[in-house]
Amino acid sequence: MRSSSSPITVHKFGGAALADASAMRNVAGILASDAASQKVVVASAMLGVTDRLLDIAHRASAGEQEPAAIDALRDRHMATAKSLGLAGPDNATLQQTIAETFAELHQLFVEIAQRGELTPAITDAFLSHGDRIAARILAAALTVGGIRAEFVEATDVVRAEGPYGNASPNIEDTARAADDVLRPIIDRSVVPVVPGFVGRSPRGDTVTLGRGGSDLTATLLGRVLGARDVILWKDVPGLLTADPRVVPDARLIPVLHVREASELAYYGAKVLHPRSLIALQAGTRLIIRPYADPTAHGTEIVVERERKPTAGRARRPVKALTAIADQTLLTIAGNGMVGVPGVAARAFGALERAGVSVSLISQASSEHSICMGIPTIAANAAAAALREAFAPELARREIDAIEVRPDLATIAIVGLGMAGTPGVAARLFGALADEGVNIVAIAQGASELNISLVVEGHDAGKAQRAIHSAFRLGKIGGGAAIHPEHADVVILGFGQIGRELAAQMATHSSRAGEQVQARVVGVIDRSGYVFNARGLSAKRLEELIAAKAARTPLSRARRGVHGTAEEAIAAITAHALSRPILVDVTAGDTVAVLEQALMRGMDIVLANKRPLAGPEKDARALTRVAAADGRRVLHEATVGAGLPVIDTIQKLSESGDSILRIEACPSGTLGYLLGEMGRGTSFSTALREAMRRGYTEPDPRDDLSGMDVARKALILGRLIGFSGELADVEVESLVPESLREVAPDAFLERLHEADAEWEKRIRDARERGTVLRYRATVTKREARVGIAAVDGSSSLASLAGTDNHFSFTTRRYRANPLVITGPGAGAAVTAAGVLNDVLKLAGTR
Ligand code: ADP
Ligand code: ASP
Ligand code: MG
Repeated sequence: MRSSSSPITVHKFGGAALADASAMRNVAGILASDAASQKVVVASAMLGVTDRLLDIAHRASAGEQEPAAIDALRDRHMATAKSLGLAGPDNATLQQTIAETFAELHQLFVEIAQRGELTPAITDAFLSHGDRIAARILAAALTVGGIRAEFVEATDVVRAEGPYGNASPNIEDTARAADDVLRPIIDRSVVPVVPGFVGRSPRGDTVTLGRGGSDLTATLLGRVLGARDVILWKDVPGLLTADPRVVPDARLIPVLHVREASELAYYGAKVLHPRSLIALQAGTRLIIRPYADPTAHGTEIVVERERKPTAGRARRPVKALTAIADQTLLTIAGNGMVGVPGVAARAFGALERAGVSVSLISQASSEHSICMGIPTIAANAAAAALREAFAPELARREIDAIEVRPDLATIAIVGLGMAGTPGVAARLFGALADEGVNIVAIAQGASELNISLVVEGHDAGKAQRAIHSAFRLGKIGGGAAIHPEHADVVILGFGQIGRELAAQMATHSSRAGEQVQARVVGVIDRSGYVFNARGLSAKRLEELIAAKAARTPLSRARRGVHGTAEEAIAAITAHALSRPILVDVTAGDTVAVLEQALMRGMDIVLANKRPLAGPEKDARALTRVAAADGRRVLHEATVGAGLPVIDTIQKLSESGDSILRIEACPSGTLGYLLGEMGRGTSFSTALREAMRRGYTEPDPRDDLSGMDVARKALILGRLIGFSGELADVEVESLVPESLREVAPDAFLERLHEADAEWEKRIRDARERGTVLRYRATVTKREARVGIAAVDGSSSLASLAGTDNHFSFTTRRYRANPLVITGPGAGAAVTAAGVLNDVLKLAGTR
């Protein structure tokens, strides 16, 4: 069947590779650089679309009206199509098609709502539109990119049988259809673009191949066209030793045998559709490769046996691990079971007839019980099927009961080298015992290719990390070369401090040469993010800094991605990063994002005060989440910029001292302002100058209101045992009453209205031999901030510029408080404080 001309490559692009127009342009670039082969493209739905459609369909069947959600999806597809820059009639046709697709979705939606039920057939019809419309848009994007491409309906090529929602391809029929439909297009040197996931049943209905089914479409087309390569372009460097969202140390596996890969896919590794490997044939290479780095090696899945089996196997018996969440264990138990013939076979048969897939089966050698792991959604149906199948035994009490135990997870470790290597199981159980993880059930496949075990759902993450490190999977293969030991930093917030930090890190890493301890891999702003798993070079960072300073949002930068911070973290942490750190230099409410980052394996450095100065329960939750996952949260720059304030408090308490009282002028901004006014500058002029120098928060009223100082006081207070909320901090505001409610612009215009009153206040103080300072006083019991008139000869009076001042009265330093003074405002010192925390984390883990 192989064409006589150049070899064929099937390129499959997953949802993340088709997230938006710029992602699609990237796809065109990838295809353009593959000049040597004839190409077939398989497209999945755009990022998140299938999940969204499924959700909408479920809601519709439950009577929840949500047509607006369909409109939002339509708008997203339209926007993507429009920004491709397609010309004239083609553009109109594409928009027309999108409109029609969504009109049809709307109609199906109404139908589902009217029935009040979601049948498998209508679900398939509904979901198929996601992949089909994405393929049409991609075909257009390729055309714009100078590649001759043509959309081909999946139902014209892929023939499939079996249940809706999980149909299996019919290889022979598909081969015939491919010869009729795809060959002629390929022979014209045009690239067919086929939607993944979708096929046609013998009855002519649209069916889907199961979630993640576009992988299967790709290997299927690869097979029937006799392709040399099938490349699955994903958002990860390849197939990794574990799910990188759960195990941050996961490493790339450069080469994997098809049996190992199938086993991983079957046991839940989301990266591959479980049946995608069935279609793979000797002579075709299957490669999983990152679209963000098209020249990377990725993972090659080979059909041939490994060359040097024994040596490699003994050293690395286990290649990877995976987990299936939401599992339920069904146990058939009873004294009378001993001797009942074929219990296991009958149980399997019953479950198969009920359409339930069993992930694990384990029988005690006493034959007293037998248990099976199944998906929790299928638990009721499965239990009913077993009760029916064993009704006679239940009635005769040979079987006591069918027990149902939910909230579990199945974990599987996989590797060809496990066969015949003693001690694997011992190491596995040892690792779990050390972490205090209880094993509910165990099974070893007859092939000895995997060992699977069942644990409590809430232990699953911990268990995977423990197993990963026990088998030293973080040290395996090519991954180590790609990720030398250093910290990968993601900067959240690309304002003044974020940019300054990026600049400092760029110089830091170029100076440090080969010994790079930390490098920036991603930057996130309100519009979206820019990310490169291999690090953003100094030149690239400079480019981004310049662009952002000129007000170009990151989503519009080269390779910028549009999205929320949550989406950015989700996408970024899907990669196998090395010691990832999220640095929060925003001034926003980021608790949710920070918790997400912690759970996905990142450490945290904060310059942002809000997460620690928000509701006490949130601040505590953050520390709790961090502690539970063994993560760290450092926040030196939240108080006193680069001064070692937090560090001092920690050292004092570690050494057994206790802090009784902190008095501080922790606002460089207010210090500067009061200092300038003391020298005769007017309020309005001094404030404008402070803003120009980057000493203020984005809205200077955050400083003037005293709220910024109050937050610092609260953070300090919470460190020494003050329990309370921001509202419990007594605050004196310096914003004139009349200007509290006005818009930021108006506020700046009307600043001078306050000049006269300030002039008088300063003069009065001076006449009494005092100087005005904005001071925070914190003890275990109280926290207050406000103007204080301090003696002109005191150390506080002599503070200059933006200097901060902290004095700690402790049990040991009671008569003579411990004092720290130094510059405490400005992007440069704050960024330096942050960098210091980053390097601390990079060096200590
Ligand atoms: P596609 O975009 O092609 O549909 P998927 O999103 O289905 O790709 O699969 C890629 C995702 O699979 C990754 O983002 C990663 O979070 C997850 N994943 C789970 N286990 C693994 C693993 N062992 N190796 C790589 N990725 C994994
Ligand atoms: N869009 C389908 C899904 O999300 C198929 C795929 O992405 O592979 O399952
Ligand atoms: Mg997928």
